[in-house]
Amino acid sequence: MHEKKTILKIICASCRKDMGEKDGEGAEGVTGTFCKECWDRQFPGIPYPEEETPSRTPGPDRPRGDGDA
Ligand SMILES: [Zn+2]
Repeated sequence: MHEKKTILKIICASCRKDMGEKDGEGAEGVTGTFCKECWDRQFPGIPYPEEETPSRTPGPDRPRGDGDA
């Protein structure tokens, strides 16, 4: 199988700030989200959803890579 690496650029939907990029998993283009500043403006009181913070994984480390299909 030849899966093409696809990149989704992440742009803040409000202020257009470049939020980086992520694996598009087949889709390529641009995806919108809110940066922290705009999130706080749009949803006051709701904590900003931090995603993918691998540095703070509680519990024992599990080796990745052994597919469970
Ligand atoms: Zn923003």
